[in-house]
Amino acid sequence: MKYIDEFRQRELAVKLAAAVKNTANPDITYRLMEFCGGHTHAIFRYGIQDLMPENVEFVHGPGCPVCVLPAQRLDMALTLLERENIILCCYGDLLRVPASNRKSLLQAKAQGSDVRMVYSTQDALNIARKHPDREVVFFAIGFETTTPPTAIAILQAQQQHLKNFSVFCNHVLTPAALTALLTTQDQVNNSSLKLDGFLGPSHVSSIIGSRPYEFVPKYYYKPVVIAGFEPLDVMQATLMLIQQINQGRCKVENQYTRVVTPSGNIKAQQITARVMQVRDSFEWRGLGFIPQSALQLRDEFAAFDSEQRFAMPSDTAEPNAEHKACACPDILRGLKKPTDCRLFGKVCSPENPMGSCMVSSEGACAAYYSYGRFRSSQNTSKEQVA
Ligand code: SF4
Repeated sequence: MKYIDEFRQRELAVKLAAAVKNTANPDITYRLMEFCGGHTHAIFRYGIQDLMPENVEFVHGPGCPVCVLPAQRLDMALTLLERENIILCCYGDLLRVPASNRKSLLQAKAQGSDVRMVYSTQDALNIARKHPDREVVFFAIGFETTTPPTAIAILQAQQQHLKNFSVFCNHVLTPAALTALLTTQDQVNNSSLKLDGFLGPSHVSSIIGSRPYEFVPKYYYKPVVIAGFEPLDVMQATLMLIQQINQGRCKVENQYTRVVTPSGNIKAQQITARVMQVRDSFEWRGLGFIPQSALQLRDEFAAFDSEQRFAMPSDTAEPNAEHKACACPDILRGLKKPTDCRLFGKVCSPENPMGSCMVSSEGACAAYYSYGRFRSSQNTSKEQVA
């Protein structure tokens, strides 16, 4: 298959693994954060960590939109469902994410609320057209990749004079989260997270381009290599990062040139800017409130903004609303691995998630569970025996 099979070739993977092994300096530990959950998934699905020398370590980042959505925003959606005529539309992953006290949208649906899984914003618009007597709310989440379709849906709703469609906007911004990671990594819990470089997001970068990451090498002295999601992409980008580190270079490089350009998709950026503006502050699960890290609808689209239309409460989440033993916040900051969580694989599994990182297939806990759980368990057993 064009553009997929080419990037999964075993022979090339073997060659790249050998190149990484020959290039990595045994005296250096390379701690590379993959910001995106798609990379985490690829690393585990294709066993890439096993192909790396021991001193090349992947640190999982916060780049999964379902994982970083705080309980408070889910609480707001659940509050909305207390209104009788609401149809809440969302993507499937969101249904099982625990809100406060571990309640989820799926539970609300089981209790009679009209929550519907959709595959696109267009599905939500169609539901609004079919039910003019109901209020249809699209629960919008995601990084810069999924934002333009939301903006387009709002413009279409406006053009078609749809009066019963609105968007609960939770779109978040990658560069702001990177800044938060880089500025707070040494202060949270007195821990020290040493990162040597970043595998930059692929889909996000197809929209925003490679230029928005230039502040990372410029102000934080860490190299960034934007990488595609296929296994050879991840391996080649890892090699490029190691080469930069060895040579003392620190730049944004682009491995994913077949899709990403320096300036990105200008048309998509313009459509988003037409409909949305940056919020002053937004809470991320695990990272707390980050200034200018999310989007909200512009005032002229207030009629399509669920938060304005329904005056949604913004302070419903109780302190410590998440499961106390869940390590998601530290995992999302790169401070812990899923296997460090004592609930992992015991009470917490994809069928019974205790935290957001186990819900989405892009979540680090789900990736460990699906592709690495048994190996990790075996290692743990051996360590315990020793
Ligand atoms: S294993 Fe479950 S409880 Fe533990 S950090 Fe992951 S999602 Fe949270």
